[in-house]
Amino acid sequence: MLLLSGGTGTPKLLRGLLSLCPKKQLTVIANTGDDIWASGNLVCPDIDTVIYTIAGVTTDRWWGIRDDTFLTHEALVSRGHEERLIIGEFDRATHIFRSDLLRQGVSLTEATLLLCASFGVSSRVLPMTNDFVPTIIQTDEGEMHIQDFLIKHKQLPAVTQVNCETSAMTTEVKTTLEENDAVVIGPSNPISSIGPILRVNGMREALKDRFVVAVSPIVGTEPVSGPARKFMESVGLPVSSIGVAEFYSDFLDILIVDNADFAVSKSDLPDEVEVMHTNTIMSDRRQSNALAAKILQLLAQHY
Ligand code: GDP
Repeated sequence: MLLLSGGTGTPKLLRGLLSLCPKKQLTVIANTGDDIWASGNLVCPDIDTVIYTIAGVTTDRWWGIRDDTFLTHEALVSRGHEERLIIGEFDRATHIFRSDLLRQGVSLTEATLLLCASFGVSSRVLPMTNDFVPTIIQTDEGEMHIQDFLIKHKQLPAVTQVNCETSAMTTEVKTTLEENDAVVIGPSNPISSIGPILRVNGMREALKDRFVVAVSPIVGTEPVSGPARKFMESVGLPVSSIGVAEFYSDFLDILIVDNADFAVSKSDLPDEVEVMHTNTIMSDRRQSNALAAKILQLLAQHY
């Protein structure tokens, strides 16, 4: 099973998939548009959340490591150092481990696989690319890295553009796509979490040849959380499951839409895209497992 992941929505689905699928059968391609150099190290929020989720050490907030301590962060702040993210000690160890490998010339893909091994994670977690292609948000307060928009600016500025550069597909991502006939896209921000993955050269074309199921992150006209409204409006898409289907229309086979959005029907969606209704809100493990089971059923029906 191949999952495209970005942000904090998809790890909720991942927790359900992990309860039903052997870890070894799972590959995750993670967004790296959120990557940022902070206090000397490369932080890869989306890769790390996936690794921590599979390793069973993630937090309820879906970032960082459970029961971490923040003494270094507090010491840095007290000395007047502006740390761009709040980083705990154990989490920082991940960033040091990775960044030292990168400084030695190891690729992000290799460093990520070594990190997986160090956490005893037997699933394959791959960065979408080895290129450094941070997502830059154009706002009424100037342009800023997406992490600065989310954390320092608390998502407040008006957004005019979300820019992610194109990037090169790695051999590992190419091979993984060739090996998997089906791809699952969890409830992620389409523009800032899945958008950068779709900007990897050849990705949209590769997905066209696969059976792709996506979970809508929007119920009615409201994202469940986060800045999806601002980002979707900035690219002129309706803030609804219909807008999500439009953004994925060239490769999407089935859009999973929440039961509360019962009015959305196939005739509302672009040709070729089917709709399936179910409960998509994953506030707890049971809901994650139920949605994961539905998705696995859907994949089994097609193969
Ligand atoms: P964010 O927009 O910066 O938060 O980036 P993410 O990629 O983490 O976005 C997660 C997306 O999934 C958001 O647009 C939320 O609306 C949505 N989301 C979060 N939790 C859930 C959930 O339990 N179910 C569904 N269907 N969507 C969710």
